Amino acid sequence: MKLIGAHVSAAGGVFNAPLNAQKLGANAFALFTKNQRQWVAKPLEEEAITAFKHYCEVHGFEPEAILPHDSYLINLGHPEAAALEKSRHAFVDEMERCQQLGLHLLNFHPGSHLKKIDEKDCLSRIAESINLAHQLVPNVVAVIENTAGQGSNLGWRFEHLAAIIAEVEDKSRVGVCLDTAHTFAAGYDLRTKDACEQTFAAFGEVVGFQYLRGMHLNDSKTGLGSRVDRHQCLGDGEIGIACFEYIMRDARFDGIPLILETIDDTRWAEEIAMLRQFAA
Ligand SMILES: [Zn+2]
Ligand SMILES: [Zn+2]
Repeated sequence: MKLIGAHVSAAGGVFNAPLNAQKLGANAFALFTKNQRQWVAKPLEEEAITAFKHYCEVHGFEPEAILPHDSYLINLGHPEAAALEKSRHAFVDEMERCQQLGLHLLNFHPGSHLKKIDEKDCLSRIAESINLAHQLVPNVVAVIENTAGQGSNLGWRFEHLAAIIAEVEDKSRVGVCLDTAHTFAAGYDLRTKDACEQTFAAFGEVVGFQYLRGMHLNDSKTGLGSRVDRHQCLGDGEIGIACFEYIMRDARFDGIPLILETIDDTRWAEEIAMLRQFAA
C-alpha cells in the first residue's frame, strides 16, 4: 500500500499534526517535533504526547507512516569540535522526542563540510554522529535525506549515502529518504519513465532499496544538475508528472511515508488525491 501525505504543521502542539494530515486525506505525514529554527525547545509535555498518540491511533497513522524531520540548524558533519558537539546534542534530543512520541524514524539532512574539511572526513563525522545517537537512544532509525548538493552540503551523490551507511555500526537503524527535487537537482534525471528506471537502478546498486525508509515527493523549480534546492508543485516544475506516476506504480515504494513538501499547501489534498489515482 502507498502511504501518502505531506509535511504538516504542528503549530499549537504536536498533536495537531495528525489532525492536519487527516484533513488532507493523507495516510502518512511528516512533522517537526520542535521549532525547526531554534536550538532548544522545552520538553514535550505528557499531555501532548498522549494526545499525539491518541489522534494517530484514531486516524490510523501507524509509526511507519510518520516521518519526523529534525531541525535545519543541525550539522552532524560540522568541521569544528564545539559546533559538532552542539549538533550531536541537539540530534539526540530530536531522537528522544521521537522515542517519546512512539515514532521509529527521524529524517535529517546529513551535513556540510563548510569547505574546512574534506568530503571523506565529513562523511565519517556524520556516521560517527549516528553511532553516538544510537548508543544513547533506542529504537529510532536515523533516516538520511539526500540533498540537492547546494553549497557544501554532502549527501547529494548516492555514493555519499552509501559511505555514511558503511560506517554506521547498527545497520538496522540507518536508512535513507530520497527527495525527488533534491535527486533531480543533484543531477539524476527523473523526467521520463526510462530516466526513473535508470536513476532508481543506480540507487539500488549504490545504496540498496532495503535502506529506503521514506520519500519526499517534490517537483523542482531548478533544472537537472543545478545543485539548487527549490521545490515546486507536482507537475509544475522541471521534473514533470511522469516521475510521480512511476513512483506510485512501483512496489519498491510501498509501505514507506511518501511526503509532499511542495510549495502550495492549499493544493496538498488535490495532490494527494492525484497520487492515489496513479497508484490505483
Ligand atoms: Zn525534503
Ligand atoms: Zn528541499
